[in-house]
Amino acid sequence: MNEQVELPVAGMDCADCAARIERALRRVAGVESAHVSLGAGRATVVFDPSRASEARLAQTVEALGYRVTGSRLSGQAPVGAAPRLYGIASGLFVVAVACAVLIGLAAERLGLIEAASRLVPAPVALAAVLIGGFPIFRKVFLTVRARTVTPHALMTLGIAGALIIGEYGAAAVIVFFMRFADFLEAYTAGRARQAIQELVALQPLEARVVRDGAEIDVPAAEVGAGETVLVKPGERIPVDGTIISGRASINQAPITGEAMPVLRAEGQAVLAATISLDGALQVRAEHVGADSTFGRIVRLVEEAEARKSGAQRLADRVTAYYIPVVTGVAAAAWLIGGSASAAVAVLVVSCSCGIALATPVAVVAAVGSAARRGILIKGGTALEALARADILLLDKTGTLTMGRPQVTSVHPDGDRTPAEVLAIAAIAERYSEHPAAAAVMAAVGEAASWSASSDEAAAQIEVAPGRGVIVHEHGRQVVVGSQRLFAERDLPLPERLAAQAEALEAVGQTVLFVALDGCTVGLIAIADTPRPEVPEALRALRALGPKRIMVLTGDNARAAGVIADALGVECRAEMLPEDKIEVVRALQAEGRVVAMVGDGINDAPALAQADVGIAMGDTGTAAALEAADVAIMRDDWRLVPEAVRISRGAFGVIRQNLYGTVAYNLTGITLAAVGLLPPVLAAAAQVIPDFLILLNSGRLLRSPRRSEAGAAPPRWGAGAQ
Ligand code: ADP
Ligand code: MG
Repeated sequence: MNEQVELPVAGMDCADCAARIERALRRVAGVESAHVSLGAGRATVVFDPSRASEARLAQTVEALGYRVTGSRLSGQAPVGAAPRLYGIASGLFVVAVACAVLIGLAAERLGLIEAASRLVPAPVALAAVLIGGFPIFRKVFLTVRARTVTPHALMTLGIAGALIIGEYGAAAVIVFFMRFADFLEAYTAGRARQAIQELVALQPLEARVVRDGAEIDVPAAEVGAGETVLVKPGERIPVDGTIISGRASINQAPITGEAMPVLRAEGQAVLAATISLDGALQVRAEHVGADSTFGRIVRLVEEAEARKSGAQRLADRVTAYYIPVVTGVAAAAWLIGGSASAAVAVLVVSCSCGIALATPVAVVAAVGSAARRGILIKGGTALEALARADILLLDKTGTLTMGRPQVTSVHPDGDRTPAEVLAIAAIAERYSEHPAAAAVMAAVGEAASWSASSDEAAAQIEVAPGRGVIVHEHGRQVVVGSQRLFAERDLPLPERLAAQAEALEAVGQTVLFVALDGCTVGLIAIADTPRPEVPEALRALRALGPKRIMVLTGDNARAAGVIADALGVECRAEMLPEDKIEVVRALQAEGRVVAMVGDGINDAPALAQADVGIAMGDTGTAAALEAADVAIMRDDWRLVPEAVRISRGAFGVIRQNLYGTVAYNLTGITLAAVGLLPPVLAAAAQVIPDFLILLNSGRLLRSPRRSEAGAAPPRWGAGAQ
């Protein structure tokens, strides 16, 4: 049996670090898989406990120069004041020396002082290099010992080269810029991590439960299913559960991003991390901790980084070739070009963590900020597909419409009454979970004159997906479904009914035919309310990216056409669930990137087939969370263009970061190799990409615009259903 352990890792200051720790962990005997998340600052390792141990894993991480914090088995003391003090003091020393050297150089250039480079005595410069560079040299030593080479190793080689050719001042300047770049990278990684940490901070920590008649506080994750949890007004609800008593306005923003509270009362579900604004509640716990909806969201966001996008994999490949190529160029500059200084400059200018930093920061930032808006994007792959999608498929029922159709009219054939037609239909529909069935059952409930106990054991139920249901019960056979189903089963369609159906469909209604024992007894028309925010959302989507938008529906062509025309989108109607998958496949075969929006329940297969499946779910429907690549956590279509906007923004940034860094470094290396870039300037130049990446990715780290969310119409406020 394999075991899984989570080690909190401190000291990861660039994306490359995570990859390096991952590689080292995977090399440990007995380790099955290892994943290190920069965003979460955590290594998740699955290993065989008979061959490896948690202590061994922690050692491996620490041998690379990182700290495993908070682990039970780590013998390491927490980061104390001493290393920090050392960092600051050595940093200041290097800054002073480097400034002196730079000012000296500038003054010499300007002809103010002659031989100013000797302003800083060699021993002082050497001391600055050793003291200031120590943390980096130590890390390089540790990683080389663990058989990995990092960009820092190149830099160290460059510094050694500078010292060998007697350029002590230059070496000090290089160390200074290297420390500065490290600082920038750590800062950027930290900001990206913040997006996730802000989310994690919403996690409820404590719960007040009733045990043996007494109220006690326990850690939220240790509440047992079925226990009664007490929540006071203003408190965060610690578990997913059902209200046993009390009612309250609940702020669900941690999950849905929607600040407008919703009213919840006895018998209704509440979710962990949401806040009871004004009521005292007793909640029966159902899912706790990592199992709760919020726990799963946090988990998915933290893991988002692991699902690498194509661009990220490309960056990884580039990084793998980068170091040998650069070393080769430096060697050539020295051996062929005959300039040791040019070789040093090549090594120095090429050392930028930028490439490794370019994508994870953007992915983590985008996923984190999307999550706070109620959009769950499951990783780089989903982010990229969403950004690149050029065709958007929409499901109709439950996606474009509310998914809660109602019976609008009943048309009997012959001498039956409408109530009889409904009653006959209900014999079959009470076994169906289709929204159409719910509409019929609701209408029967209103008629109230009819009642019969359902008898699942005696009934034979046949579901024709996308067409209807057929039920045999007590010697009767009832069929309810589409015209297509009736044609397939050779059931008669009286001309008068067919004409009626056509007229109803022409105004956008869905017609269900009803047959009893092979005789068609009438039809029931149902209609669903369109979601009001869809037209605006589709306009926004069109402006953003996908140029083709198409509705896929199992409904009849006429009714679907009415809605599609009103929205100005293409339409494929009368599709069976398997036809929908076929359409997705065919489009993919044409080379299109397909995004599909569905309700995540009956569209799961097509959502899974699409390059990116977007599930519209009411406050975290479990199915939507699991099935889709992108889950919209509240019933608000405006989040769909928002998701596309975020992904496109992130991908724009990633592309700029990546190509920009590559182009910049190539130019720098070329200039350095031909001697146009002296080592000191090379060191300064090396910091620039880090700076640009920091600024560029910063665009993604802005907080969500709360005002926008707050402006939602109160319809969602009354979301109790
Ligand atoms: P959509 O693609 O709009 O979600 P479905 O594939 O679920 O539609 O269903 C397509 C059609 O099949 C419906 O419009 C309805 O005519 C018929 N149908 C499916 N299930 C039932 C049912 N339980 N009762 C009656 N009609 C049904
Ligand atoms: Mg559907």
